Amino acid sequence: MKDNFSYCDICQSKTSTFVAPKKYDFNHNGKFVSFLADALFCETCKNQMYDYELDNQASLKAIAHYNLQYGISGKTIIDFRNQYNISQSTFSKIIGIAKKTLVSYETEQAIPNDHFLQILRIVINNPNTLELFAKNSSSYFTEKELLKINAFSFTSQSMYLREDSMEYQGYNSFNIQKIIDMILFFCQNGATMTKLNKALFYADFSHYHHDAVSITGLSYQKADKGPFVSTLYQLVDKLLVEGKLIKETIDLSNYKYQIYKSKEKISLKNFDDLEKSIIKEIQGHLLVKTSKHISDESHEEEAWLLTEDGAYISYHHANTLKKIYGLVKSDIYE
Ligand SMILES: [Zn+2]
Repeated sequence: MKDNFSYCDICQSKTSTFVAPKKYDFNHNGKFVSFLADALFCETCKNQMYDYELDNQASLKAIAHYNLQYGISGKTIIDFRNQYNISQSTFSKIIGIAKKTLVSYETEQAIPNDHFLQILRIVINNPNTLELFAKNSSSYFTEKELLKINAFSFTSQSMYLREDSMEYQGYNSFNIQKIIDMILFFCQNGATMTKLNKALFYADFSHYHHDAVSITGLSYQKADKGPFVSTLYQLVDKLLVEGKLIKETIDLSNYKYQIYKSKEKISLKNFDDLEKSIIKEIQGHLLVKTSKHISDESHEEEAWLLTEDGAYISYHHANTLKKIYGLVKSDIYE
């Protein structure tokens, strides 16, 4: 393609050309990067000639090298958004830039200025600050976006908790995928919030009883109705928004209550055998018992009795659990 004759401005002749790597030194705000990129040369005088495509590739390479050395790569921003499931529109509103500017950072067509570079670094290293930036943003957020922002503050809150209180997370890291799968599984035939809290509690504490580690990494607090996850509402809201759960009101003659129902069949492919046996047994148990019965059952547990109102429940109480779900490991493999 490049072997057609071209006109060289330097030696002012019609000449054939060749492509060869060239060392570029790129300077942005006093910071330098050096890299090699292909360039077009004049066969006659060996000087570099202008070539739209190659020159454009070289400037993209300059940005990529600069980002790696001094800035933040487009991939890092994209990975972060994907991890927290935030769209480009929402993310650009949160950090206060135009969407097309964000796109130019992600595709590495442009380098974030120092101000936005700093904001991006803060947010990516501390996801819990997303909520703070959103609150201070002058942009308008839709109801859906606000729910999402709540949900990712939920995720990061729990990740923070992990670092200094493993005892209250069952010595396991927080696993959002397993939590979502379990919520949807327990809601297959509809479940109240009370049942859902208790189901998660018994799953995690039963697993801890068998294996000294929780399934989800969730923390439970003591409430009147039994152990509960303080941020479960936010997560359920997120699943409602995503259309994975629906809310139904059950209207009895003397009172009403709400149940959550999953809209799709959930497989337990993300769980191992012990986890599966615990989850399935709890699901079977939930179907036949009332919320009150399950609450009463949890009230007999030391985990609940020996914890102060509102305090986090230590997983060490799982050792004295009265109602234990799941076969012991040796039974599974027999
Ligand atoms: Zn020339």
